[in-house]
Amino acid sequence: MTTPHAFSQVIKSASGALEPFMRFFTFYDAHVQTPDLSDFAIGNPHDMPLQGFVDALQRWCVPQNKDWFAYKMSEEGARTAVCNTLRAWRGIPFEADDILMTNGGFAAIAVALNAVVSPGDEVIFITPPWFFYEALILAAGGGPVRARINPATFDLDLEAISRAITRRTRAIIVNSPNNPTGKIYPPETLQALADLLTEASARHGQPIYLLSDEAYSRIVYDGQSYPSPTTYYPYSFLLYTYGKTLLTPGQRLGYIALPPTMPDRPQVRDAVFIAQVMTGYAFPNALLQHALPDLEKLSIDIEHLQDKRDRLTHALRDIGYKVHLPEGTFYLMPRAPLADDWAFAATLAEQNILCLPGTVVELPGYFRLSLTANDAMIDRALPGFARAFEQANRQPRPA
Ligand code: PMP
Repeated sequence: MTTPHAFSQVIKSASGALEPFMRFFTFYDAHVQTPDLSDFAIGNPHDMPLQGFVDALQRWCVPQNKDWFAYKMSEEGARTAVCNTLRAWRGIPFEADDILMTNGGFAAIAVALNAVVSPGDEVIFITPPWFFYEALILAAGGGPVRARINPATFDLDLEAISRAITRRTRAIIVNSPNNPTGKIYPPETLQALADLLTEASARHGQPIYLLSDEAYSRIVYDGQSYPSPTTYYPYSFLLYTYGKTLLTPGQRLGYIALPPTMPDRPQVRDAVFIAQVMTGYAFPNALLQHALPDLEKLSIDIEHLQDKRDRLTHALRDIGYKVHLPEGTFYLMPRAPLADDWAFAATLAEQNILCLPGTVVELPGYFRLSLTANDAMIDRALPGFARAFEQANRQPRPA
């Protein structure tokens, strides 16, 4: 993608970082209207929304006073509902004042970065990443630094993180359950990460903040519990969006929660508040904040999602695909039977199947499938997956 030189330096550097995503978006746009498409490309809904979600919005859009739709910041009712959930779920005495409401997870990440990053600071992110981290770091004035996962286990590679840390490291973004690998980082890894960050912070004389992207913390399979990185390390921002749990990503609702162990919380809260205003009023709209106590009780059907995970994984393995079972998130990450994952995405598209090529998430040779596709799409797609596999295997894959 090229941008005319009249655009700002931030836009120029972010457009470079977003190039793989923009290429994908063009591909997606070219295919998304195909009739009878099986759309596995992104975490969008393909079933009707939860009735409870619709009911809550209808109920709370009726104004109860003149200020109903006035400017809203982090509203008390919403903060209290989030705080009560986090206390019960995590067993940690979160405080309502430390819940800072945002319009989604995007904003939570952008705001947290803007609160802590100064020009010249470095921010580590884990690769394969969610495709917007690099651009969001650049937009906050930071220097993005990659640390690769362990490719065999998909766990964090603590040595790679340790090598990435310099005296300019200001923050690290960690995403568990992980998009795209589906990995939940285990407690031992998170404790070792906390020890590493504590030691490096002391060595360099300033805290390295951990930005814990917990977008999928409620999309967890096989009855597993979710260990949050924020439980292990005090300088942590818990970043959440309701877009996954409710599968309503167009209704922008999320938050930043500061754990009670976070030092200097009043100053951090103020920094976050200023960053919310300065990033374009990054608060959720009034209606969503009124409805939040009701929305907090809802979730898409995780068992159904797990059934889709199992059905698709087993069917793909029967065809011959190599695919691991994700522990959480919406995503399956099979190996592409062609070395060129873009070429394989095109082969699938010929079968009316839309996927995300692994290169877009820095995992070449894989492709990502979102389990938010509906049952009919999965049924329709299975013969197409088989034909695409056969077709690809007629062209030998280099070792
Ligand atoms: N983090 C991760 C890892 C995600 O996958 C997403 C959404 N795809 C987000 C953050 C942002 O979520 P939202 O669009 O609800 O703000």
